[in-house]
Amino acid sequence: MKTVLIIGGGLAGCYAAVRLQATCNVTIITKGARADSNSMLAQGGIAASLDPGDSPQAHEADTLKAGVYHNNEPAVAQLVTTGPALLEELIQAGMPFDRQADGQLSFGLEGAHSHHRILHANGDRTGAAITSFVQSLLHHVTWETHTEALSLVQDAAGCRGVVVRHLPDGQPQVKTADAVILATGGLGNLYDFTTNDHTVTGDGIALAARAGVALHDMAFVQFHPTLLALNGRCYGLITEAIRGAGAVLVDENHTPIMAKVPQKDLAPRDVVARHLTAWQAKGHKLFLDISAVADFTEHFPGVTANLDRHHVPFRQDHLIPIQPGAHFMMGGVKADLQAQTSLPRLFAVGEVACNGVHGANRLASNSLLDCLVSAAKAAQAIQALPELAPAHVPAPAAPTPNAGRLPALEALQHRAWAELGVERTKAQLHDFLQWLRQFDYRDIDPASLTPAALTVANLCLCSDLIAEQALVQPSLGAHYLKEAQTA
Ligand SMILES: Cc1cc2nc3c(=O)[nH]c(=O)nc-3n(C[C@H](O)[C@H](O)[C@H](O)COP(=O)(O)OP(=O)(O)OC[C@H]3O[C@@H](n4cnc5c(N)ncnc54)[C@H](O)[C@@H]3O)c2cc1C
Repeated sequence: MKTVLIIGGGLAGCYAAVRLQATCNVTIITKGARADSNSMLAQGGIAASLDPGDSPQAHEADTLKAGVYHNNEPAVAQLVTTGPALLEELIQAGMPFDRQADGQLSFGLEGAHSHHRILHANGDRTGAAITSFVQSLLHHVTWETHTEALSLVQDAAGCRGVVVRHLPDGQPQVKTADAVILATGGLGNLYDFTTNDHTVTGDGIALAARAGVALHDMAFVQFHPTLLALNGRCYGLITEAIRGAGAVLVDENHTPIMAKVPQKDLAPRDVVARHLTAWQAKGHKLFLDISAVADFTEHFPGVTANLDRHHVPFRQDHLIPIQPGAHFMMGGVKADLQAQTSLPRLFAVGEVACNGVHGANRLASNSLLDCLVSAAKAAQAIQALPELAPAHVPAPAAPTPNAGRLPALEALQHRAWAELGVERTKAQLHDFLQWLRQFDYRDIDPASLTPAALTVANLCLCSDLIAEQALVQPSLGAHYLKEAQTA
């Protein structure tokens, strides 16, 4: 039986495991607990053209338009045609998506979708519902939680395993495999303001980069327009589905901020995030006015609980204080339609991968769907791989303490927000790289760093790659170079 190591326990990793568990010996290695992932936090839902009035072609057109036609078209076609069938399978297996009173599936609307096509579960707790459901289907899989992947092991056949360590202070050990799937998610924690789970720190991208695996589209980071903002800090996402249900972005004078922009409050995320940032730069405060949203607390129980936890008086004034923040990584480890990376036997699925499906700007609720589609494709490709004789890999040398210098995480996040954020200039990108490159994050032995220091080193490497590509990539979608627009 083939041995497969899956790094990451979010939707993409777990769904790949579901599809491999009958034929392979599968281990999921994950840094935190089973519930620690962005997948568990997803609110709005999962997009698929399952409504009789909708079509894969309409979903494809919306995806390409939001992605500013920078998308890999075959990947988009694969997403919109393969996704609905995988969702039907999950529904048949008992996945409890929300339904209307007559029993029909209930479809929500989100920014830049031309049709109500967002399936949701438990109101705005779709991510937790679908990820827990997929995890409940895992019966023949070994979990190694609180275990961190440090580096990839290669031989002539390609990727043959991973060096891991148990957290917080385990020694590095080698795990060999016939194939490895990277499912480590994005890099939202590079920034001051983010919606991402604390375990999502660009590790998969850094680990692939150190192994010489090809990356793609690193300049494209999506900033979500609406994070709950209180006293200069962010406390989670305020889902776009609330704007789909009629909420309006306003300032402290109740001026509708998006009134003059095509598609108004439901314009693509990059457009909304830039408008809000420009408005904020003029000294205004930003709010989401929910007075037009019927039965808000009933439809958005997760957001309601978060607002109550932070004592936001939205029941009285119908206003939620918001600000944009880092949300999703369109770029990442380059993968083809079978999730194969440039290194044989290494696959990348979900947000860590860049198969081009999202283009320059992800369409809302397409990423959970991509997790399912890319994971299913990786599983199919791994099933077709020949089994190999066990790899003979020497045990890792005892790590030597690292004497190099790294920045404080907060300093990195602060500079990344200011210089690699919603708006960038070439001068800022050069300044950022000059500052960053005084530190020692490139030629390191990951095992020689503490887990906290490795997180910083990984985020430094990711930010270097973002800045490098941002300097040569003309403005497009979520990547916005200010000078280029005003010249
Ligand atoms: C607040 C929020 C709301 C969202 N809402 C939606 C939505 O409504 N619809 C939608 O389609 N998308 C949404 N998204 C995006 C979507 O949730 C993610 O893109 C998707 O869940 C990514 O899944 P994944 O399996 O690729 O990665 P994740 O779910 O992020 O999982 C990554 C896993 O890898 C583990 N890991 C990381 N590094 C290591 C390491 N070195 N070693 C071992 N394990 C590691 C992490 O702990 C985690 O278990 C949302 C995202 C956020 C943050």
